[in-house]
Amino acid sequence: MNIQQTLSILKPDVTRRNLTGKVNAKIEEAGLRILAQKRLHLSKSQAQQFYAVHAERSFFNDLCEFMCAGPSVVQVLEGENAVARYRDIMGATNPANANPGTIRHEFAESIEANSVHGSDSLENAAIEIGFFFSKIEIVG
Ligand code: ADP
Ligand code: MG
Repeated sequence: MNIQQTLSILKPDVTRRNLTGKVNAKIEEAGLRILAQKRLHLSKSQAQQFYAVHAERSFFNDLCEFMCAGPSVVQVLEGENAVARYRDIMGATNPANANPGTIRHEFAESIEANSVHGSDSLENAAIEIGFFFSKIEIVG
């Protein structure tokens, strides 16, 4: 067994369309457990900090504007190989390339408003979980 935790964000396009429950159903059907969850509205500077790795990319400013345009739901997910497992069920960054059945294929509006974030490595998962949650908020 290789139980991991990963950081998930249901992005503002999900909360705007009232799809939080539908996305959570996909997560739970895939065998991942939601150990922590809160709804918050990122400020511009928080979005810039969270996505700092993309600061040099052409889409960085638009991405940060989108991420602070409405509320998000941030979550800690746990399960077998949770980092890669969640990336699998999220689907490709561009929903046009996402496999049927994935969250982005079912729900994403565009390559930017693509419904979910998931950590891309175990190391980044720990950093991103620490960005939003304290230990006492993560309940296994
Ligand atoms: P992922 O979320 O699949 O890990 P990236 O880390 O490459 O993808 O990008 C972070 C986020 O930036 C994406 O989820 C998406 O919201 C946005 N993004 C990525 N590429 C583009 C692009 N070419 N144009 C607009 N937004 C983009
Ligand atoms: Mg990424």
